[in-house]
Amino acid sequence: MIQVNQVNKTFQLGDQPVHALNNIQLKISPGEYLSIMGPSGSGKSTLLNMLGLLDIPDDGEYWLQGSDGLALDTVPMDEEVRARYRRDHIGFVFQSYHLIPRLTAAENIELPLVLAGIPPDERKERLQPIIQRLGLEQRAGHLPNQLSGGQRQRVAIGRATIMRPKLLLADEPTGNLDSHSGAEVIELLEELNNDGITLIIVTHDMDLGDRAKRKIRMVDGEIVLDKSREQEPS
Ligand code: ADP
Ligand code: MG
Repeated sequence: MIQVNQVNKTFQLGDQPVHALNNIQLKISPGEYLSIMGPSGSGKSTLLNMLGLLDIPDDGEYWLQGSDGLALDTVPMDEEVRARYRRDHIGFVFQSYHLIPRLTAAENIELPLVLAGIPPDERKERLQPIIQRLGLEQRAGHLPNQLSGGQRQRVAIGRATIMRPKLLLADEPTGNLDSHSGAEVIELLEELNNDGITLIIVTHDMDLGDRAKRKIRMVDGEIVLDKSREQEPS
């Protein structure tokens, strides 16, 4: 479903080139649950942004599965096609939630449906079960600044998944949360993975990272370890 071949990404920091991604080779099957760990600055967010079509490799290939099941070469896509693929197939969750402050919890979750031109009746139908599942019934009419961090992140997860994407990318999703709310957020993401969504989580937290079935470790823009639970001695 996901195939990355020999991808490189270099940023120019003043007159210094920074090799954020160095010959990345990665294959991910539908429904996998993987974590990406590594020191700050090792390229984790750059890799996640590239996987989420928010960033474009300098060279190499990045293949994703299209609606027809066939592999799509994403590198040459123009920005409009890229944005449409993102909207329909990829959910993104960030450390700092990125909610729209003047919209309520329910309106934030509903927004992708509005942008996709889905009519109001169908929007309401799809919104209700999600709000329930997120445990936000009592908070649906609240603005983000009236919600706790854990509730905000649950709203963000609702917004990221309401289009029923195949791929959910989370960049340090518990980075701003206490351990209790963090655990709730991770459990919610894992439930979504159990339902079939491919889940990729970037985290600093070793305990959280260890929960994933497959663990990737990055150092200096390179994948230095790629380990599935099946390969571990029991
Ligand atoms: P991580 O998420 O692992 O902390 P990043 O992917 O954010 O690391 O960054 C990897 C490297 O690329 C770092 O050295 C960072 O400073 C650099 N970098 C990331 N984004 C940019 C950018 N937009 N411009 C310049 N340098 C960047
Ligand atoms: Mg990062």
